Amino acid sequence: MTARILIVDDVPTNTRLLEARLAAEYYQVSSARDGFEALERAQIWQPDLILLDVMMPGMDGFECCRQLKAHDSTLHIPVVMVTALGESAERLRGLEAGADDFLTKPIEYETLMARMRSLVRLKRLLDEWRARVETARAMGVGDDRASVPGVTGTQALAIDPSAGSLATIAHGLALDGIQTHPAHTGAEAIAAAARHTFDLIVVNANLPNDDALKLISALRASDSTHETPLLLVAEPGDKARVLRGFELGASDWLTMPVDANELRARARNQIRRKIYQDRFRADLGTALELAVVDPLTSLYNQRYLRRHLDELMRRREGPPIALLMLDVDHFKAVNDRFGHANGDIALKAIADTLRANVRAFDSAARYGGEEFVVVMPGSGIDDATAAAERLRAAVETVVFEPVPGQRHPLTISVGVACAPAESATPDTLLRAADRALYEAKRLGRNRVELAPMAEA
Ligand SMILES: [Mg+2]
Repeated sequence: MTARILIVDDVPTNTRLLEARLAAEYYQVSSARDGFEALERAQIWQPDLILLDVMMPGMDGFECCRQLKAHDSTLHIPVVMVTALGESAERLRGLEAGADDFLTKPIEYETLMARMRSLVRLKRLLDEWRARVETARAMGVGDDRASVPGVTGTQALAIDPSAGSLATIAHGLALDGIQTHPAHTGAEAIAAAARHTFDLIVVNANLPNDDALKLISALRASDSTHETPLLLVAEPGDKARVLRGFELGASDWLTMPVDANELRARARNQIRRKIYQDRFRADLGTALELAVVDPLTSLYNQRYLRRHLDELMRRREGPPIALLMLDVDHFKAVNDRFGHANGDIALKAIADTLRANVRAFDSAARYGGEEFVVVMPGSGIDDATAAAERLRAAVETVVFEPVPGQRHPLTISVGVACAPAESATPDTLLRAADRALYEAKRLGRNRVELAPMAEA
């Protein structure tokens, strides 16, 4: 996994070594000398992660972090603050400024890599949801969900053999309105997770009677806790176990003894992320679907198709795109003879056939009355022609009996256009496919015709 890392430090010698090491791991690295430059770089370059020094002249790391987290275009970028060793007050200030994580100087390379992987992975997920929500908003269906969600009323599961530690955890989380369910053993934890839905799990890496790493695996494998943020609590020197915990899916970690305020801030970040993800998912399930789907056929509608095509063809260096335009033959006769209700049944049957016969990443849309479009990203003319022929043949087998016992044949004509992304626009591609479709009609229907390459 490669990622863009922005290093912010006022001392160039601090950044140079790190830059070299990260670049050697194929990360793209950029650096900024102060907070002002960092804000500017972050907005323009959109890194996947920011390593931010605390002590800098002009604007310190706290202020810089606050501003990053206050700005719409940068608030989703994980910030790892780099502090002096043993400064717990600094860490708390940073977490309150919105920092996502901490490293102490000198930066320990393995810990950095583990944290970076975890944060970048999480960011990728968030990016994906953000992009989808943006599309929904651009189409006028996204409500305003920009506000930062609160954590009050959420539930945590804490697994620790010590009653004292459990009390510290419960007390700290309660200050933010998070209710804690204590568990002393792995078995208790698994039982609780089966009964309840939790928003956070805090697990001690040293359980006297259980293998904590096995417990993490089990929690990650279970449907109910598969995506629940998980904080690992470990001894400061127990690096190997922490790294293994990250590999098994821990979201973050804390060192013992647990600092209540540090726990609060980390818990808050993790729970908020989970809430964002749940929200995005819920939005997609309803609003987006309503706006982009044709109600009769449940295929995409023309509005979505056009936007999707714009998006695919906007990237100049993108892969080739093939487009099929399909039209039901003699459809007017179906409506005239059997009525519109039967016409709708025929369209639905054809739509179902198209959906069942395109690849997962192709998009099938109802383009107009009895006209359909299939967009095939990454396909050349051979793939597209084969697909068109497959669809044509499949529609031919659709059983349509508007009068019981009397089968009425359904066929489609298909126009195929294909173009390298850089030389075509959505309109030229649609027009080329449309002309090829017209040709298929003219040559007798129930057939596939290709647009000459130069046209698309
Ligand atoms: Mg400094």
